[in-house]
Amino acid sequence: MNQERPIAVLGATGSVGRQALEVAEALGTPVTLLSAHSSVAAAEAAARRFTPTRIAMTDEAAARDLAVRLADTATKVVPGREGLLEAIATDRAETYVNAILGSAGLLPSLAVVDRGKRLALANKETMVVAGKLVRERAAATGAELLPVDSEHSAIFQSLSAGRPREVKRLILTASGGPFRGYTRERLATVTRAEALAHPTWQMGEKITVDSATMMNKGFEVIEAVRLFDVPPDRIEVVVHPESIIHSAVEYIDNTVIAELSVPDMRACVQYALTYPARRVGVTPALDLAAVGGLTFARPDPVAFPLLPLAYEAVRRGGTAPAVLNAADEVAVAAFLREELAFGEIPRVVAETLGIVATPAEDLEAILASDTAARETAAALAAKYALR
Ligand code: NDP
Ligand code: MG
Repeated sequence: MNQERPIAVLGATGSVGRQALEVAEALGTPVTLLSAHSSVAAAEAAARRFTPTRIAMTDEAAARDLAVRLADTATKVVPGREGLLEAIATDRAETYVNAILGSAGLLPSLAVVDRGKRLALANKETMVVAGKLVRERAAATGAELLPVDSEHSAIFQSLSAGRPREVKRLILTASGGPFRGYTRERLATVTRAEALAHPTWQMGEKITVDSATMMNKGFEVIEAVRLFDVPPDRIEVVVHPESIIHSAVEYIDNTVIAELSVPDMRACVQYALTYPARRVGVTPALDLAAVGGLTFARPDPVAFPLLPLAYEAVRRGGTAPAVLNAADEVAVAAFLREELAFGEIPRVVAETLGIVATPAEDLEAILASDTAARETAAALAAKYALR
């Protein structure tokens, strides 16, 4: 049966990765391969609990440490980024949950797609950075792309109510993050702790900051363009603070089909694992009367300029989305180290985009732009650093 198809969880020590393992446990799904980067203690705990054949540790020093700790188990530790790619190329998992953080998730995604397996994609950077390439390769191998990001899972589910040519628009909901309603002036000096206090979702630090700047929603627009082949001018972002409607599809007859559930990533992971079947939910049921009301508003492009910048990047194409992503990874890391003010994140990202992006779209150009954007963004973050 579908749910017993073995799975791999990449980025298993992160927020989504841990929730994916909870779902696997609840469904009784065997786990053959795990990956982590440098969190040795968490990786050891996951390996002991889920007894995979292999665990890839992309940081080499962490891999050596983990191998010592797991010496008494049957799980083999595979070191380095190459080790992870080789493990994917030979694993017996049928579904690969990619919950790696950042553009480091791209090559593992391509390795899954090249084998024609199911890719349950939480790593939105894969589609932002190289969505076209991933779609082309998936079409060639028959790999299935199943979104785990809640908005895209909602759209994927809502798309089954009509045919592709009957789709008019995608409506992407956004919680608005902790700074909904703030002006640009007020946003300039918000703190790290304030940015990490997301009202509705418990997530890793990077994506939580991206929710606060609305860069995350911008990435999700690009992800939707690439996953569903809908142009950016037919994707509308609507602020919906309750995070109950996870996104919707409007059809040509003006009927809107939406997906509603409690905000819990485990539901999204579960659907990507069991699709096309549905299984008894691991997440709580939705009590609409208890929620009371659902509200909606338009996003503020002046206070949150990274959202319109994402539209610009996807319209421009080439390596622009990859540059946007890499620059944001660098700027957010600097903000999390408390070296860059919140209000300077958009400046670093926008200036990097203006300097680095190229029209080419092949993998080599994307990887080169990713590297160049990191260097440029680091220099700009140093220039605008807090003193
Ligand atoms: P976390 O930071 O919580 O976890 C990241 C995971 O990736 C960890 O297992 C980490 O290992 C691993 N990792 C980090 N850097 C590297 C690297 N260079 N190479 C390989 N592995 C690496 O992130 P989240 O779980 O929040 O997010 C993961 C992805 O899912 C992101 O793309 C995010 O946008 C997306 N997503 C997340 C949601 C959420 O609710 N959190 C919702 C929707 C999408 P280690 O612990 O060893 O560092
Ligand atoms: Mg999302």
